Amino acid sequence: MNNHHSLVLTVANQKGGVGKTTTAINLAAGLANRGKRVLLIDLDPQANSTLSYFDLSEVNSSMYDFLIDSKLHISEVMLQTKINNLKMLPARINLAKLEGKLVGEFDAPFRLKDRLDPIKGEFDFIIIDTPPTLGLITVNALVASTHLIVPIQSSYFALEGADDLLETIEKVKARPNPNIQVLGVVVTLHDKRTTLARDIHEQICRVFGDKVFDSVITKSVRLEESPAYKEPIYSFAPQSSGAVEYGNLCEEILRRVEQNGRHL
Ligand code: ATP
Ligand code: MG
Repeated sequence: MNNHHSLVLTVANQKGGVGKTTTAINLAAGLANRGKRVLLIDLDPQANSTLSYFDLSEVNSSMYDFLIDSKLHISEVMLQTKINNLKMLPARINLAKLEGKLVGEFDAPFRLKDRLDPIKGEFDFIIIDTPPTLGLITVNALVASTHLIVPIQSSYFALEGADDLLETIEKVKARPNPNIQVLGVVVTLHDKRTTLARDIHEQICRVFGDKVFDSVITKSVRLEESPAYKEPIYSFAPQSSGAVEYGNLCEEILRRVEQNGRHL
């Protein structure tokens, strides 16, 4: 096992409700179940990833404090989830104040990267869930990342906004983080029964080519229910399509990472 550096995978798409959080929480758990040491970071003030594993009463310090107060030690923020190998840096609603607080700070886009550098090597994967915006929070995630995963909902407006996202990635590549790569695009909330969804899937493949993962995530009520029970899909509904498909996605990600020359 190469433990020089964590792979940092940001899950981002500025469109709301496309399955970012569902993908982040189940990738994190799926990789942890496969023996990887995983840290899940919630960078969304909505705190949906956090609430998928914890009650807010269990959260003391959170990402806002961690990014604002450089003296706060990570151990005061990090939580052990009930899943072996999976730790979490949680968010609270106060993260919404971060962007205002960082305006004018010279290191604003680098806060997260600088905070994570000392713990690289403690984890095989760091998975970051982001809010549905392309603001400073998402830029912090992209600057700190080795790879980006883009969930795209297979619906009529799926590709609207994809240009803005790609432009943001190009900007991040041009200056603060030339090494970031798009690891892949995952089609989510897919309804296999409709012709429209099949057409959209083809359209996404035309735009993103071989970046599109073979594993497609279909619509499943179980995926919607599992966060309420604080369970990842694999323990909540092991036989469900969601468990199988996110499991496949984890395997595909491990294969792609290896093809990229990162052996874990
Ligand atoms: P936001 O932009 O608000 O952060 P998001 O991109 O993180 O949203 P999710 O929260 O993962 O999206 O998903 C939006 C809603 O759709 C949630 O209620 C979630 O449970 C549900 N959902 C996500 N994926 C699926 C799926 N494959 N099948 C059924 N429901 C799903
Ligand atoms: Mg979300």
